[in-house]
This record gives sequence, C-alpha cells and structure tokens, in this order.
Amino acid sequence: MSTLPTTLEPYEIWFFTGSQNLYGEETLRQVAEQSQQIAATLDDASVIPVKIVWKPVLKDSDSIRRAALDVNADDKVIGVIAWMHTFSPAKMWIAGLDALQKPLLHLHTQANVELPYADIDFDFMNLNQAAHGDREFGYIQTRMSVARKTVVGHASNPIVQQQIADWARASAGWQAVKTLKLARFGDNMRYVAVTEGDKTEAEIRFGVQVNTWGVNELAEAVDAASETDVDALVAEYEELYDVVPELRKGGDRHQSLRDGAAIELGLRSFLEAGGFGAFTTSFEDLGSLKQLPGLAVQRLMAEGYGFGAEGDWKTAILVRAANVMGAGLPGGASLMEDYTYDLVEGAETILGAHMLEVSPSLTTAKPTLEIHPLGIGGKDDPVRLVFTADPGPAVVVAMSDMRDRFRLVANVVEVVEPRAPLPNLPVGRAVWRPEPSFATSAAAWLTAGAAHHTVMSTAVGIEVFEDFAAIAKTELLTIDADTTLKGFANEVRWNQAYYRLAQGL
Ligand code: MN
Repeated sequence: MSTLPTTLEPYEIWFFTGSQNLYGEETLRQVAEQSQQIAATLDDASVIPVKIVWKPVLKDSDSIRRAALDVNADDKVIGVIAWMHTFSPAKMWIAGLDALQKPLLHLHTQANVELPYADIDFDFMNLNQAAHGDREFGYIQTRMSVARKTVVGHASNPIVQQQIADWARASAGWQAVKTLKLARFGDNMRYVAVTEGDKTEAEIRFGVQVNTWGVNELAEAVDAASETDVDALVAEYEELYDVVPELRKGGDRHQSLRDGAAIELGLRSFLEAGGFGAFTTSFEDLGSLKQLPGLAVQRLMAEGYGFGAEGDWKTAILVRAANVMGAGLPGGASLMEDYTYDLVEGAETILGAHMLEVSPSLTTAKPTLEIHPLGIGGKDDPVRLVFTADPGPAVVVAMSDMRDRFRLVANVVEVVEPRAPLPNLPVGRAVWRPEPSFATSAAAWLTAGAAHHTVMSTAVGIEVFEDFAAIAKTELLTIDADTTLKGFANEVRWNQAYYRLAQGL
C-alpha cells in the first residue's frame, strides 16, 4: 500500500485562549478550566476530523509570540483556533500574529449558553467578557490584515462545529499543498493555453514543487515491474472490478491488462521513491509506455494522489488538495472535464468525462474494467474503469493562471442520473446540473476565463474550498444558487482591481 498521507488522523489544531494578568489567580484558574471544556467539546465533536489541543492561557506578548513560533515549527499542527475569554489587550498579540504562518480561526464564543439572569453579578461579568474581548482581537487582526476565518456561537452548536470542521479540512488541504511534490511526465499538450502556468509562482504562492521528468524514466520503472507483482495486481483487479472476459486470465487480450498493471506498479514505485503526491501525464509524450495510463491513474487518484491530464499540473494540485480535504468522508475527488451538453430545454445537463482518467471514488457501484481503442496517442488500446458517478451534491473547481495571479472558479452542481444509458461511452463519467442554471453557470464560467479541466469533489462542498482559498489568499469566484450574471461580471471586474492592490510590493 501507498505511504501517501491522505488521512487527517495525525493532524492537530491548537486552541489558544487569550487573557491577561490583571484578573488574579482565581479568575485565571476559571478561564483555564472553561477554555479546556470548550476545547474538549470541539475535540469530541465527531464532525471535526482532527485533534483539538488545548494550550495554557496566554497572558503576555512574549508567550503569545513563543506559542506562534511553536505552531510554525510543528508539522503536525495545521492551524490555530483563538478565543479571548476575557479581555486580552490586543497589542500583546501583535508579535504573535505577525509570526504566525499557519491558518487562524477566530472563535467568538463564551462558556455559558444561557445568561444566568437570577444570579448574574459583577464577578460573572468580569470572567465572561469575550463579547468585548473578541472585539478587541478582531480589531487588531483587521488592522494587521491577518487572514482568518471568524466563527460565532457556542461550541456545542452543530453549525459552529461544522464551520470549524470545514476550516480544519481546508487547513489540512493547505498543509498537503504546502508540502506537495508534483511530478510531470512530459510537458503540457501542445498549443493549449489554459493548462500553462507559472510554476515558480505556484511554489511561492502554494508551496507546491512542480518539476518534470522524462517519460522514459517512468517507462524504465514500468519495465522493472516483476511478473509476480503483475500477477498479484491482476488478481486484485479481478476481485475489485467486473473484468470483461477478454481481459481475464485466459482471455484474448489478457496481456493488455498485464501491461496496464505494470504501468500501475511502475508509476506507484516512481511516485513513492520520489515522495510525490501528484503527477501529470501527456498523451503526446508516452515514450516507450505501451498504453496511455488509464486504469493506473484512476486507481492512484482514488487512493489520494493528485492528477492532471495533458500536463495540467494546476488541476493535479486541486485533485490532491480535494482528496486530503475530503479524507474519511463519503464520495471522492477526480479530474473532470466539461465535455458535452444535453440542451433539452428545462433539463439541461453537462456530461463530464475524460479520455480515461476519472477517479472511481465518484461511484459506490462496482466499476467494469474494459479495453477499447483510443483515437489519439498512437499506442495500444488502453485498459480503463467504466462507471457513472453517483447522484448527489458536488462542486467543480478550476484554476487559471491570470498572469498576475492564480484564479479559482467553482460551480456548485448536482450530479444526476443520465436520462438514458450510455452503452457506447466506455469511460468513467458524470452528468450534472449546474447552479443556478445551465445558461448562467456556463456564461459565468466563460466570463471568468475558467479552465475546461476541473477537480470534481463529491466529498466536500463549496464551504471547504472557500476556506481553502482564503487561507491560500487566492481569488475564488463561486457560481452557485445566488449567482446572477450581472453581479458575477461585476465581481470579476472588481476582483481585477482588488487582487492587484492586495498583493503588496
Ligand atoms: Mn483534457
């Protein structure tokens, strides 16, 4: 099995409580006790996928800065939740906020749900003053332009817990991208514009390392696959999928399945040896590979790897991030491509697919494993998994390089059953209805200059991508039920100015 870290289990988010020394020992003891309870409530919330770790109450500038440096230095800590239980004079937070390099969530809460009307006295007021303590903290964060998510409400409230969970998943996606090594086999598809981009800028903005290897280095790893390993993998295929008879052991075309298995073994060993979490291929540059990698890519994506076809490394980053952000949830993430439409009035849908490379994590049904000719690439017929994505809510997200910045564009969609079977379309595919309507969605997508390749996520929704974009300080244009074309076009215009101004010197 792969050593790819797609689980969120080892990750921690540290819970910081702000106060000051003014209150005396007894009050500070209660602050510590109550903040521990709040951290424990969040840690126990099953929807929050990472550990919430309480830290001792912060009362002065030096310890706050030191706590921020400890967060930065620890790879398992992916973010910080901060809450000002009492009044924590915010100049104490300047050095710490300046030092903090990880995602921040400002939780505006309090220990009690109900006001104790009959008993409330000034001791209670003295202890429970987050209502203004957090306002002081909000001021300094905004004055310092600190990117953060603000969540309001009691820690036991399921909406509050869901908002924290979404942000925790986005923070894990960010950690994965910051440490991501991406291998490109071959360059981008010739003459294509939108899959190009500035790889140096991507490393500066997102931390991801994008580099290219000659495809024949991959072909050597494929050739090195042992017959025993191929036997074992083919047996696994026969167990997991409905393998068509011609590909089965003894079938006319069994060798093609063995070739596909060797490609998977070679790809996997290359990726594991280099510590890669994402990769791209190019059908125009397959070297001595016998087939365009289809089955292998589909299975690696389902396991958590990022992938982009035709050299599209930007979409590969998104697939990797979406796989991590959705870890442990039903559904999955995949490369997707808007292919063709059903334009029947009132029932308009988009049929998405790719030549081969759609992740089977989008279905709960058993895929069939088939072989068919491929019109381009000039290689042997490739083996591939064939299935239809499960119906349900999803989001598609694309990344474009706008020259001065990266732009994310997302569409909230509903995956639906195709209106009729697709017996002659032997690939993984999805049919979806875009929000707010087909015409507005497509027009907005084109207005934004968004790409034809996307990641489709059926595991996490738009909220997680919104948090991810905010953490990454990257533009995200969302097309959803509230979108009007007029408003959207204005947002594109205004963002043009905002993102140039916000980049600094
Ligand atoms: Mn494509």
